[in-house]
Amino acid sequence: MLSYWEKKHFLNYDLIVVGAGFVGLSTAIHYKRKNKRARVLILERGVFPTGASTKNAGFACFGSLTEILDDFWTMTPDEVLQLVERRFKGLNQIKKEFGKKELEFKDSGGFELIQEDQVEALDHLDNVNKLLKPLFKKPVFSTVKAHRKMGFSDSVKSVVKNQFEGELDSGKYLNSLWSLAEELGIRILTGATVSQLYPDSGEVILSENVLFSGKKIAICTNAFTKKLLPEVDLVPGRGLVMVSEPLDFRIPWKGSFHMDKGYVYFRKIDGRLLLGGGRNQDFEGEQSEENQINPKIERYLKGIAEEVIFPGKKINWQHSWTGIMAFGPKKSPIIQKVGEKTAVAVRLGGMGVAIGWQVGKELSDLLRKGF
Ligand SMILES: Cc1cc2nc3c(=O)[nH]c(=O)nc-3n(C[C@H](O)[C@H](O)[C@H](O)COP(=O)(O)OP(=O)(O)OC[C@H]3O[C@@H](n4cnc5c(N)ncnc54)[C@H](O)[C@@H]3O)c2cc1C
Repeated sequence: MLSYWEKKHFLNYDLIVVGAGFVGLSTAIHYKRKNKRARVLILERGVFPTGASTKNAGFACFGSLTEILDDFWTMTPDEVLQLVERRFKGLNQIKKEFGKKELEFKDSGGFELIQEDQVEALDHLDNVNKLLKPLFKKPVFSTVKAHRKMGFSDSVKSVVKNQFEGELDSGKYLNSLWSLAEELGIRILTGATVSQLYPDSGEVILSENVLFSGKKIAICTNAFTKKLLPEVDLVPGRGLVMVSEPLDFRIPWKGSFHMDKGYVYFRKIDGRLLLGGGRNQDFEGEQSEENQINPKIERYLKGIAEEVIFPGKKINWQHSWTGIMAFGPKKSPIIQKVGEKTAVAVRLGGMGVAIGWQVGKELSDLLRKGF
């Protein structure tokens, strides 16, 4: 039962954003900056944002050598270049907007471990550098001369460096967005699960049966979008991340590392090993919206830690969690109108750190000009 005051002051907005991940917060911020008097509300189902944005590994990356080569199977060279450009520019934009210190952004380089079955990729390194030259002006990828000093197992035949990649603290990035949204006067309600959406009338209903009306609605629910809009073309993909106890030995490398076309990734944080991925070991099992650890993938990652990254060492694990991403037939987000008053920006894949801010800007522009 709502009071007269609640009905009068709490339920009507110029823009309602559903989802407070990187994209939802970015959309609300860009919109509010252009429409200073607009009443903007974000509805987030979690106590705090609980999607991929707070569960990821914090890689500020735009593609390892084998990931980019893999992209050529589904994309034209121009599309590959455009995607790399989008990701690289996105990273520069967040550094500029929030500051490297605020994000704990380190330009420590990206690295890829090349094992026997990927050695062929090295033959294409020069060609990929040529393709990327218009964007970066200098070679992006080079092989690390003394990679044996990094201490990886002998199965690692080479290490390829990407000098333009880095790493950040995802929690700090989300906090920066949240603080900026609050500074701008955007209202954020957490613990507010939208259970019904009316894209043409601009109405959303919470599971507690409270109805909010927006002149415009932005759906930024990424992997969870099908519950509200079943026709959107995406599938969920779960990712596992594990963080070890503090290590009692010196880690002989720094930077953010990938293996196996980007499916496995690791870095050091606070003297610990952060290791994640392995979705390709059970694609079907990981096509899930449930946060749950898949024992097969956990075993696989633990094996990589003790056999490939730190061969012969025992690693004790202290933290493990999963997060849900959204994927589709193409490696590009969906940013489009889905009703008279509603638009979506979803399906960020494993690229949201890099492109979330820009995707939010594109959705905000669509909401301002495309209706
Ligand atoms: C394990 C893992 C590792 C990753 N590593 C990296 C990486 O290193 N680098 C990188 O660039 N990207 C990485 N990603 C991908 C990146 O985190 C995502 O692309 C990005 O966070 C997507 O942001 P988003 O705002 O679209 O979605 P989300 O962060 O998922 O936000 C969606 C929000 O909507 C809310 N929501 C959903 N349904 C409702 C509803 N009905 N009502 C109200 N609220 C709702 C959710 O609670 C959530 O907070 C990783 C992802 C995972 C899971």
